[in-house]
Amino acid sequence: MEAGAPGQVGDAVVGSRVSSRDHRIVPDEPVIRLSGVGKRRAQALAKLGVQTVGDLIELWPRRHLNRCQITPVGELALGQECLVVGRIQQAIFKRTPSRREVLRVVVDDGSGRLAVTFFHARWLTPKLPVGQRVAVSGPVERYGGWLSMSHPDLELLDADQSPRLGLIPVYPLVAGISQRWLSDLMYRVLPELIPDVSDPLPEWLRSEHGLRDRPCALLHEHFPSDEAELEDARRRLAFDEFLRIGLAVHWMSEPQRSSPSVRVMPDGPLSRKFLARLPFALTRGQQAAWEEISADLVSARPMARLLQGDVGSGKTIVAALTLLAAVDGGRQAAFMAPTELLAEQHYQVLAPLLEPLGVRLHLLTGRTPGRRPALEAMRGHRLHVVVGTQALVSEQVQFADLGVVVVDEQHRFGVRQRAGLSDKGNGPHVLVMTATPIPRTMALTVFGDLEISRIEGMPPGRSPVTTMQLRKAERRLAYQAVADAVRSGRQAYVVCSLIHQNSDLGLKGAVELAEGMRAAASWKVGLLHGQLPAEEKNGVMQAFRDHRLDVLVTTNIIEVGVDVPNATVMVVENAERFGIAQLHQLRGRVGRGEHPAVCFLLANDETDEAEQRLAALVEHHDGLDLAERDLALRGPGEVLGLRQHGLRGFRLARPLGDLALLEEARAAAREVLARDPGLVWPEHAALKAWMLTAIEEQTAQRILT
Ligand code: ADP
Ligand code: MG
Repeated sequence: MEAGAPGQVGDAVVGSRVSSRDHRIVPDEPVIRLSGVGKRRAQALAKLGVQTVGDLIELWPRRHLNRCQITPVGELALGQECLVVGRIQQAIFKRTPSRREVLRVVVDDGSGRLAVTFFHARWLTPKLPVGQRVAVSGPVERYGGWLSMSHPDLELLDADQSPRLGLIPVYPLVAGISQRWLSDLMYRVLPELIPDVSDPLPEWLRSEHGLRDRPCALLHEHFPSDEAELEDARRRLAFDEFLRIGLAVHWMSEPQRSSPSVRVMPDGPLSRKFLARLPFALTRGQQAAWEEISADLVSARPMARLLQGDVGSGKTIVAALTLLAAVDGGRQAAFMAPTELLAEQHYQVLAPLLEPLGVRLHLLTGRTPGRRPALEAMRGHRLHVVVGTQALVSEQVQFADLGVVVVDEQHRFGVRQRAGLSDKGNGPHVLVMTATPIPRTMALTVFGDLEISRIEGMPPGRSPVTTMQLRKAERRLAYQAVADAVRSGRQAYVVCSLIHQNSDLGLKGAVELAEGMRAAASWKVGLLHGQLPAEEKNGVMQAFRDHRLDVLVTTNIIEVGVDVPNATVMVVENAERFGIAQLHQLRGRVGRGEHPAVCFLLANDETDEAEQRLAALVEHHDGLDLAERDLALRGPGEVLGLRQHGLRGFRLARPLGDLALLEEARAAAREVLARDPGLVWPEHAALKAWMLTAIEEQTAQRILT
């Protein structure tokens, strides 16, 4: 066995023998061409996103170990992280009564003796013969009268070898490679590879913004000599991440921005009739957002606006007004939703509101019957509004005169898809809507090309959903509440993390739960999940809307948009499996009507992190507050489905913490494109290529997800 399973000895097993250099290290070659990388390791590296030798450069350390000096055992201080270098005096492997494997080692450095314990490290035993020199680092503890370290980072040393000092990178691992092996590879390859990397930023930009050069930053990101150098490097690389995405966003939105806008009419007869017929008045928040949108709709440039509004804030009505502006102006409008279920639902909501006004509306999804006549009617301008899924982007769909495009839940679509739809018109106005409470800094980045409106507040008469976290033993309470609700004529959702149960992991499945419920209770139970055929999905959803079902057992397929005001109870099984943003979206399915609503989060064996997540849901109701909590708990990389936002591009940047840097990079992106709109200057060639790969990666990623 080479070095045991990864991560078994502390976080790092740092090797230090530098093997003979490869002939030549070529960035574009597959990693397998490096000496020491065989098929198995190459496969493991691929899982870390490393295909080519050059990819190793951006396999960033997860963190760095601070090992700046060697401390004699005689001077160790309890509780401090120390590095000790000495010889193995004794090594004993045994099993505890609870069958835990323990390797106890005594390290002697001449000034004293240190007891070191490794768990589950039988493989290590032969590597630690008496007399072997080692460097161990970790917090110093006391164990039965001994100074000790438990599961420290370990480095095996030759007789005359000194340990690596300074900030030691710790890389992410997968099965099949060890920290030691990967570190060795990095120490061997990167110093040779990185100096040849060209800096994509032109000289003028670097000097204007006082940026150090990229190769230097890359090297320091891996092998910094101190914290300051590391932070300096991270900032340069973060700037690059921001700049790259900033450029990409501007680049893609350019054609749309520069064309003159289509004429529409934001407050014509149809929209006035529409408002008069609504059973309620617009909320102040809706009114304010609609005013901003209206102003865009009469300006000379096509609108490109993001409408943020928490779940249930009433975005659909604002969307309807925007669509009507096109029809009032004598043009057509398209409304795109991310799933068939949602497209269907928008259609169901809008048809009774718009058709009585004489607006001709059509639903178009991948499988709508009567496609061909509908497509012809659209081309012939006999239809005014089409509601649909991504199918709207397909080539066969053509409009006579597209004036407005509304895209719901934008984060599920790529910038390209949005553009794909607006390309069907001649500079139509575009409104994208999201319930995802994206903190403003991130919105600026991800949707850098969009103006932003927010719907503040909720329609009147909503009481916030009471949220309760229950343990396994209290599960009954939740189902009691379901029973009570059903008895008084309300409806309930039961949400599972899986379609089919996984007994090994103790996870409930929607299918089994629905079966069980049908057998045990007199409720009419529906089952809805992503693997059902589309017609069945729509049928079940319709039945729930019509109250032919009492309980809908489902998965997070209902996460966005589903609107059944009579549903007042939600039970989330294995809530620990969902993220904050998902739970917030799910919870938004209840409390949409006049009756008070409650959401039960059932969780077993959650981790501390999950515990805090659920507690945040209990405490906070506002999406933005939750977003901040989420950010605090997980850090920006993972927040709020950022991967869906294409923020995978941010690995070193901290979209919140690096606000100033972000603004600077955005300004730089604008500046670059102002000087050289087509990026045709020779000195911008590298920058352009680099930006285009960002666009491709983002698109590929959206196609994959
Ligand atoms: P979301 O922003 O989540 O898409 P919806 O548009 O689905 O929210 O609206 C949620 C519910 O609130 C719907 O049932 C809708 O009819 C209702 N609603 C929207 N605007 C108002 C309003 N101004 N007053 C009262 N109810 C409203
Ligand atoms: Mg909605």
